Amino acid sequence: MTADLIDGNACAAELGEELATEVKALAASGLRPGLATLIAGSDYAAVAYERRVRRLADSLGCYYVSERLSGTAEEADVLAVVGKLNADPRVSGILVLRPLPAQVDEGHVFRTLDPQKDIEAVHPVNAGRLALGQPRFVPSTPASCYHLLDHYLRRSGRDPQQFYPGRCVVVVGRSNNVGKPAIHLGLARGAVVISCDEHAFISGRLQEFTTQGDVLIVAAGVPRLIGRDFVKAKAIVIDVGINPIEDASGRIRLVGDVDFAKVSELAEAVSPVPGGVGPVTDVWLLRNTMTATVLRHQGGG
Ligand code: NAD
Repeated sequence: MTADLIDGNACAAELGEELATEVKALAASGLRPGLATLIAGSDYAAVAYERRVRRLADSLGCYYVSERLSGTAEEADVLAVVGKLNADPRVSGILVLRPLPAQVDEGHVFRTLDPQKDIEAVHPVNAGRLALGQPRFVPSTPASCYHLLDHYLRRSGRDPQQFYPGRCVVVVGRSNNVGKPAIHLGLARGAVVISCDEHAFISGRLQEFTTQGDVLIVAAGVPRLIGRDFVKAKAIVIDVGINPIEDASGRIRLVGDVDFAKVSELAEAVSPVPGGVGPVTDVWLLRNTMTATVLRHQGGG
């Protein structure tokens, strides 16, 4: 292995300390961030994510409420919970965990969120603001990708503001909550952005595009989709994927979308799974919750 390790745990610890100080300062002025999570069903990654953010919210002294519905919940049930959370003054940020059950229209649920509590920027107003380069909230996972990148660039003696303009950022995966915001954040930095989804794979051209990337951000949800041949030499690679797989002993372990060992042979730097984007995302979610608390207190956003 030759690539540098992009250490999400270290980055998250640093970010978490800053956040703890800011939350304490808010408490001194009588404000308490409040996070609500909503799960419909029992998706492994969603349940694990909920557990982590609950622990983090508790450790920071934030208000936290968990809403759980079964996988057979109807859209009206989900909308009723969203309505309740929108109206709850203790809740400043709402995270609707994906995937929602097939019978629930995700877009409809997102449109029902109070935009001022939509910390993942999935409401059309917030998604539009992000696309225009005027974000109210930067969704936590793509924000964490660029936080890790910027942190790595600075650590290796480069100024992020000068690094991106004209460089090629390839984003694999085009979901509304990860891939698309990652595209907009790349564009906002002046990068040339290539966006690939499953059609690039099906057409057999994925590799042609991914090997263009000076930076490669992978969020497809396909275990080890990106092997050595899919990466440009000296690229910086951020692996967002979290895929639970069962090993020979029947134990579940998490792997990314990137073949870490093989890609490390030629990339400049790679973020691992676990211990890469995930821990930073957790802290960023609470950071956005704090931002929502402050914006609401100031009466806007
Ligand atoms: P999603 O299923 O909503 O979207 C997946 C995207 O990848 C789609 O655009 C799809 O077209 C594309 N895709 C699927 N197969 C592909 C292929 N073979 N080649 C190229 N593109 C392909 O998923 P999502 O919510 O964006 O999440 C993606 C992954 O990131 C999942 O593994 C998820 O668990 C993980 N995730 C991690 C974090 C974190 O904090 N680290 C947060 C959110 C999601």
